[in-house]
Amino acid sequence: MEKYDIIIIGGGIGGLLASYKLKTANPKLKVAILEKGAMLEKRKCPASSEKGCQKCKICAITSGYGGAGARSDGKLNLGTAYGGTLGEELGEIKAMKYINEVDKVLSQFADLDENNKPDYPEMYKSNEELKTLCLQNNLRLLDMNVRHLGTDRNFNILKNLIVELGKLGVEMHSMCEIKKVTRTSAGFAVESNNKSFECKKIIIAVGRGGAKFVSDFCSDFQIQFDSNAVDIGVRVEMKDAIWRHFSSKIYEPKILCRTKTFEDRTRMFCFNQGGLVSAENNNGVITANGHSFSDPDKKTENCNFAILSSIHFTQPFNKPTEYVESISRLANSIGNGNVLVQRFGDLVRGRRTNEHRLSQNTVIPTLKATPGDISLVLPHRMLTNIIETVYALDKVSPGTANDDTLFYGCEAKYYSLKPIHKPNFEVMDGVYIIGDCSGITRGLSQAGAMGIYVADDIISRQ
Ligand SMILES: Cc1cc2nc3c(=O)[nH]c(=O)nc-3n(C[C@H](O)[C@H](O)[C@H](O)COP(=O)(O)OP(=O)(O)OC[C@H]3O[C@@H](n4cnc5c(N)ncnc54)[C@H](O)[C@@H]3O)c2cc1C
Repeated sequence: MEKYDIIIIGGGIGGLLASYKLKTANPKLKVAILEKGAMLEKRKCPASSEKGCQKCKICAITSGYGGAGARSDGKLNLGTAYGGTLGEELGEIKAMKYINEVDKVLSQFADLDENNKPDYPEMYKSNEELKTLCLQNNLRLLDMNVRHLGTDRNFNILKNLIVELGKLGVEMHSMCEIKKVTRTSAGFAVESNNKSFECKKIIIAVGRGGAKFVSDFCSDFQIQFDSNAVDIGVRVEMKDAIWRHFSSKIYEPKILCRTKTFEDRTRMFCFNQGGLVSAENNNGVITANGHSFSDPDKKTENCNFAILSSIHFTQPFNKPTEYVESISRLANSIGNGNVLVQRFGDLVRGRRTNEHRLSQNTVIPTLKATPGDISLVLPHRMLTNIIETVYALDKVSPGTANDDTLFYGCEAKYYSLKPIHKPNFEVMDGVYIIGDCSGITRGLSQAGAMGIYVADDIISRQ
């Protein structure tokens, strides 16, 4: 059995940056990453071809070295206003220190430009004029500095980081799905589908897709959970020009809305200028997402973003993930195994979108989805919230509520399980849970920051 000081389960941004910090701080540590998906360059998604999503057993969008973020738009949100609750966990000052460290580390792995300088993009700063425009229309524009790496640059940075990890001596195993962890006299035994490993400490960094692994692990070791909110809604796509007065100034508008009928909170976020809508496979449930390339030649005429409605369940119901999954599954079942797409004009008129209406639409869909009726899927409360949000956003960006705006359903954000942890994110002696699977983070910068924080914690205790 191979023996390590620290095993990191999951090769996403959290796991990668934890291993980087561990090995740069103490090169003698024996560190391994065990990742269920492929090495970064072998990750290929068939959905980008004409075939559409093939429901691969291991989804190349969410799994493999680089994690769910590898094919993402690479928006680094350099603040704590959204993307997780790390600010509440660590305090604002400490959280920002670690978020800025993520930015600094990633900048070191950018390729060089023609002037031999790192090709690392400038930051989009928050904008007072747009904030006021939103406030005047009962919307709240979230204030944050953002760095847009873009899908291509983000991929190259991760690739360079992984090469460096190899040079630092981090052992990286791919196609290595961890099934079980047990206690041993020396620490822990970690079992994959085909191999066993032994270690003194474990960092669990399995992302949203690893929710079941975390839930099984916590039940094996009797670790309790806090319940968390879940978000469900749609991916919205329209002509890029409609939101350009925002995106040219702040890159990513993230806007909160308090809906009229139910006074619920919805949010518009994950904005992709000139982007593509994508499908992702979350353990057999296909949901919508989006990304965009930084390369101008790869930009589309469209932009896309999510509008999600938040639900926080109270007793006795404690299975918010199952709730959201069952709604997304219903969309897949009506959509013949795929995500649904509907014109906004059809939705508000109470009719389905069919191939004929879609073919005449001025907004050309960038994802091959099944034309259908999202009102047959989303509960009345969520659908009402989303339609009201579209009309509210139309006031600050006229054209958002156009008939030809496309809705893809469903998009869901699962972060329901939040294992009870110590202030240093240990859930039991020697085991840390970090990143999106901790229920604390929802984005690259905070997941990476948690990885670096935990590495520092381990180093400081040696
Ligand atoms: C399409 C898309 C676009 C996105 N765009 C952005 C964006 O622009 N900006 C942003 O901030 N965030 C974005 N996100 C979210 C962001 O990618 C995540 O918040 C981030 O990747 C979380 O990092 P993580 O390390 O916690 O987990 P992940 O990146 O999910 O990595 C976890 C890894 O663990 C592996 N794993 C799971 N279970 C096991 C197991 N049992 N054994 C071994 N390995 C396992 C998985 O295969 C995966 O590679 C996007 C996500 C998607 C899917």
